[in-house]
Amino acid sequence: MKRRHFAIGRIAGATFAALAAALALCAIGSGAAAADQLSDIKARGALDVGVKADVLGFGFLNPKTNQYEGYEIDVAHELAKRLLGDPNKIKFTTVTAKTRGALLDSGELDMVIATFTITDQRKLILDFSPPYYTDGIALLVQKSSGIKGLKDLNNKTIGVAKGADTATRLTAKASDVNVLLSFAAFETYGEILAALQAGRVQAFSTDGSILKYYEQQDPTTVILPDRYSSEDYGVATRKGGDTLSAWVATQINDLKNSGTLAKWQHKWGIYNENQGK
Ligand code: GLU
Repeated sequence: MKRRHFAIGRIAGATFAALAAALALCAIGSGAAAADQLSDIKARGALDVGVKADVLGFGFLNPKTNQYEGYEIDVAHELAKRLLGDPNKIKFTTVTAKTRGALLDSGELDMVIATFTITDQRKLILDFSPPYYTDGIALLVQKSSGIKGLKDLNNKTIGVAKGADTATRLTAKASDVNVLLSFAAFETYGEILAALQAGRVQAFSTDGSILKYYEQQDPTTVILPDRYSSEDYGVATRKGGDTLSAWVATQINDLKNSGTLAKWQHKWGIYNENQGK
């Protein structure tokens, strides 16, 4: 049976609360089976996880091995091991900032572990685990541009990804320093790099961890040292799948408290003192 929480994600605030209550009553009437995502996954025997394919050290589809690898992939395997007794009982799907919410909403994925920042707005429509990593927004520019930071981008165009929180957060920072930014939004990060190379945008902005791969693609570009936000990454699950959300939160806390997350961050060369704050 198709899991059926897809409608919930598009409704916010009070309407959402009223609908959630009504849906809970329906679920009781129909046997409540659909709300138990943990049982659903166990019956299926595999965890459907959305991950990134282009974030080095986090979620990267290695072209040499055709396998996903990185810190977030380790977290996913560990969750499969704890839930299904086998770290490989997992089906990975590549997501982008734009596609990940909809794929979760539609029931195609059980969870998303994909540099997904926990924000108050997103928490209205999705559940998030406690943070397993903290990163920050950065800027990738052409070395030859002479741009050193946000202050040099007044009236310039910044390339961002659709579905990312980058523009909102950078706008807030820029207004603090009286800088006016304009943004161009793209489907994929690859398109933003191309736009930077073509001079259609003067900076490419997203989390520093994501920019690393694109900086490597083009040695004429550089990631500037400043960070303009605190991006807490959480494992996202559907609202209403409360058994799963609570279970995931417990596992992340356990992995954090046991020092396992920090160990994996060292292994992937992404250790960040701010994580788990
Ligand atoms: N982490 C940021 C966000 O969730 C940047 C986008 C991304 O993860 O690709 O909005």
